[in-house]
Amino acid sequence: MATNSLVTNHISLKKYGIHNANVYYQLSPDELHSITIEKNMGKEASSGALAINTGEFTGRSPKDRFIVKDEITSDKVWWGDINIPFDPDKFDKLYDKVVAYLSEKEVYVRDSYVCADENYRQNIRVVNEYPWSNLFAYNMFLRPEEEELEGFKEDWLIVNAPGFMADPETDGTRQHNFAILNFSKKIALIGGTGYTGEIKKGIFSALNFLLPVYHDTLPMHCSANVGKEGDTSIFFGLSGTGKTTLSADPNRKLIGDDEHGWTPEDTIFNFEGGCYAKAINLSADSEPEIFGAIKKGAILENVIMNENGKVDFTNVSITQNTRVSYPIYHIQNIQQPSIGKHPKNIFFLTADAFGVLPPISKLTPGQAAYHFISGYTAKVAGTEAGVNEPVPSFSACFGAPFMPLHPTVYAEMLSKKMKESGVNVWLINTGWTGGPYGVGKRMALKHTRAMITAAMNGDLPEEISYDDYHIHSVFGLAQPRSCPNVPTEVLSSRRTWNNDEGYYKKAQELADAFKANFKKFESYANDEIKAGGPLV
Ligand code: ATP
Ligand code: MN
Repeated sequence: MATNSLVTNHISLKKYGIHNANVYYQLSPDELHSITIEKNMGKEASSGALAINTGEFTGRSPKDRFIVKDEITSDKVWWGDINIPFDPDKFDKLYDKVVAYLSEKEVYVRDSYVCADENYRQNIRVVNEYPWSNLFAYNMFLRPEEEELEGFKEDWLIVNAPGFMADPETDGTRQHNFAILNFSKKIALIGGTGYTGEIKKGIFSALNFLLPVYHDTLPMHCSANVGKEGDTSIFFGLSGTGKTTLSADPNRKLIGDDEHGWTPEDTIFNFEGGCYAKAINLSADSEPEIFGAIKKGAILENVIMNENGKVDFTNVSITQNTRVSYPIYHIQNIQQPSIGKHPKNIFFLTADAFGVLPPISKLTPGQAAYHFISGYTAKVAGTEAGVNEPVPSFSACFGAPFMPLHPTVYAEMLSKKMKESGVNVWLINTGWTGGPYGVGKRMALKHTRAMITAAMNGDLPEEISYDDYHIHSVFGLAQPRSCPNVPTEVLSSRRTWNNDEGYYKKAQELADAFKANFKKFESYANDEIKAGGPLV
């Protein structure tokens, strides 16, 4: 309402083409929480967190993610079905429709920034149709000090209108929802979807273009934390492999859970100011840090609660992708600002649903490059009864959907940095053991944590020797023969199967999938990298 005391007039949206809107500028988390509940758009959980439903979309929609093809992008972006081109004129027309739609409405505006290292900072202004989307922006982006708001000048504008539906015929979209990046105008335009992840991943994608092209900085889809000695660890991995879970470690300070840059000054910085954790099967016992972060200020997405506001984290009736976002300071042990030294250990996380990759193995530089370019994990096919064949999924750099440039650009930067810093690289299978999905079970979280801790503490030898490591006959990976706090038999996937023939058959199947996928990168790879692939 125009009379509402929270509405401000000193921020004008006219320059964006938004007219006569009631602007709620820079509201506090408490205010956004309350407004969401008043408007019946959400409920308070017993933990104090705000529970909302994102609507039709409960996950990102990669097929509706476009990049405007213009002077800046046309000869740099790796165009294809991941980076789908969008016409500049069509963008302008669609933008005009979206801002016309937001005119006369209540809109929520937030000034924030990304990149915790001042040298790389990009100011972001977010314009949201919904109050809870604006709270998400508060949680996930970095929060400027009060005095920094005076004369705030954005580098990027995010316009987020979940209620606006595009008309594919005239607007040039695939369907009614879209997320479009325009590098010339520095706008991320999102419509037709309320999934909050589109907001953060839009800016991530923009940084994945800007940082390597203009700042010689490697953007990474990884989490990061730092130990008592100042030793940084980073964890790459596709969705659901454990970046957020494994970086929340009571003995280490969290730098960030999803997106980081590795600078020419050899530091690591978080892009964001918050975390976005999967909530499925969350429990205080197995993930106390994340569970404890779910309090007033946090947003629960698409969860089911009982009448007392108690969340049933096992209930996936809306989606498997239930989520919770919270500002990073909801975690007890954090690094401030979110910057660390170059990593001492790099972990590649893969949720292998074939159950064949070793739970931990140490990679040679060639293997590290090979596995980074491959970006393997497995997607478990649907949850329908009877369908339990996992599908191998390869996503270059462990984040292809967010990488506008050719994967080899990122891979070459990483290889160079790994060599210069003499980092240890480990491949961690957080997926299945004792058999494939449907037969075996998910690797015990406590075992995965123990293996990672051992690697970080130096309990697993740096040098790959026969005495300390067994070389996997199919993948050539160096499997430690023993590891503190992990039963020896767990360290060999083959032994957990109790069925050598079945094991080697599946292992060969996965090796073949690796090889088939790598074909498209072969012409870019040198002999060392090629030798990092499966042996047979
Ligand atoms: P996204 O990129 O989508 O944010 P992510 O890599 O951060 O994904 P997590 O949110 O950490 O993934 O999800 C890992 C999920 O797998 C959690 O629900 C966690 O409880 C579960 N899990 C089960 N076993 C393990 C294990 N051994 N290691 C890691 N995670 C495990
Ligand atoms: Mn995560």
